[in-house]
Amino acid sequence: MSTYEIYALRYAHHERRASENFLGGDPHDGPMPMDYFVWLVRNAERTIVVDTGFNAEAAQRRQRELLRCPAAGLALLDVDAGTVRDVIVTHLHYDHVGNFDLFPRATFHLQDLEMSFATGRHMGDPAQSGAYDVETVVGMVREVYKGRVHFCDGDAEIAPGVTVHRIGGHTLGLQAVRVRTARGHVVLASDASHYYANMLEKRPFPIVYDVADMIAGWDRCRALADGDGHVIPGHDPDVMRRYPPVSPALAGIAVRLDAEPRTHT
Ligand SMILES: [Zn+2]
Repeated sequence: MSTYEIYALRYAHHERRASENFLGGDPHDGPMPMDYFVWLVRNAERTIVVDTGFNAEAAQRRQRELLRCPAAGLALLDVDAGTVRDVIVTHLHYDHVGNFDLFPRATFHLQDLEMSFATGRHMGDPAQSGAYDVETVVGMVREVYKGRVHFCDGDAEIAPGVTVHRIGGHTLGLQAVRVRTARGHVVLASDASHYYANMLEKRPFPIVYDVADMIAGWDRCRALADGDGHVIPGHDPDVMRRYPPVSPALAGIAVRLDAEPRTHT
């Protein structure tokens, strides 16, 4: 049976407050920074990238601190973005699919409903379209016409031991990624739960298409994982503290999610 290594690669950061991270705000408001990640799933046979981050232009426009181009980060893990064949796009928000052009040989695995959502009626509403960059979405439409987008409808296998699952909630077509590892199945929740606190305290993130689906999605991610400690939130700086760095040189940059956490959740 195929198992995989999983790496979380931290590429950007944003200083923000807790009230920005919970629907309805936070009565105990205080600093609650956000990290931005792309993920690498690989074994001897396969290299799969999950999400592609954003670029310097988007970082400047949206006032985020870009720490390193995700492709440069992948190079630190001996991955050449130019040769990657499989990229799973959890959803089309700017911080997850910018830089797709740096993966010229990849097939992009995306949910049908995410493309429908990102090109449909709800994009007339700034509350729904604000985290999409229209040029990036249009760019992905062009990739559809090149035959480079593989559409998934609900649950789908990308490779033996790597499956995607539509969660919805945050966006209509958000998908999580389930990966078989030596410690069991790990679920990359992406923005099904930005922080551990969103799912553990049952407090939705404020960018949301369907609150009920977001809440149901936390249970779905848990059910797909071999334990609560096997669900990885999409933006929580605590991921970098809980999991061991790939190497001393990569401390603060990349951690191993297929390894046992250093502290338990
Ligand atoms: Zn995000």
